Amino acid sequence: MGKVMLGEMTWKEVAEAIEGGARVVVIPVGATEQHGPHLPLLTDTLMVESAARMAAERAGGVLVAPVIPYGTSDNHIDFPGTASLRLDTLRNLLVDVGRTLAGHGFDVIVLLNGHGGNTAAIAAAAHELRQVTNKVIAAVPWYAYIKESHRVMESKISWHADEFETSLMLCMHPERVQMDRAVNEMPRPFPLFEFTHEALLSARVDLGLPRTRAVVDSGTFGEARLATAEKGRACVEEAIAGLAGVLKELHGKGAEIAKRYTPD
Ligand SMILES: [Zn+2]
Repeated sequence: MGKVMLGEMTWKEVAEAIEGGARVVVIPVGATEQHGPHLPLLTDTLMVESAARMAAERAGGVLVAPVIPYGTSDNHIDFPGTASLRLDTLRNLLVDVGRTLAGHGFDVIVLLNGHGGNTAAIAAAAHELRQVTNKVIAAVPWYAYIKESHRVMESKISWHADEFETSLMLCMHPERVQMDRAVNEMPRPFPLFEFTHEALLSARVDLGLPRTRAVVDSGTFGEARLATAEKGRACVEEAIAGLAGVLKELHGKGAEIAKRYTPD
């Protein structure tokens, strides 16, 4: 199997890979933000990078750019160590990395998200990259394909640094998890749930998230103590299979579709 991590390759190896048919480049986007008392600040970064590598190795014809270790995490800022980019900073960073990588001959750029808070910046960057590169730009969270396997979780809702996220980490980076420090904490009612006007509750009004410290003390939302590596394995397997399928399809048809993005 050829190398897939672009940052570990020389420029000659990248040139050979593109010459040899590498059509897709993935840019993983993580975060540096609190993940409860038991998971490291780099949780989202570590997982999105691992997911990108595993899916790229399985799909073939895909290279993975160095992971971006910061995202938009302002709601977690009351917890020490959290660092956050403004939405425009992240969007501009992604547009610059994407447009310069596109110039080397890839047909498809995948913005692979590892943190829900990055969604708006990634969508805005994808929109801009489509206009400036005429390439196929795909934006997707690495965990988008976790569906059936989610049933192994005992908690009804997935929040943050909880049973679900901790299980994923126990599968992908067990040496980084301090299970003896894990806690279960359910968030206090979000203040915005106290709005009663029908127009505000119709789900058409996006009220965003409160500051994390306003609703939990530990940084965990949910039941981290229920996490196991087995539960994580089922979900990671489903996620990577789904993602590899998408990368394969993008690799197979990306060149043809990218050509049709540009008017004659
Ligand atoms: Zn996370």
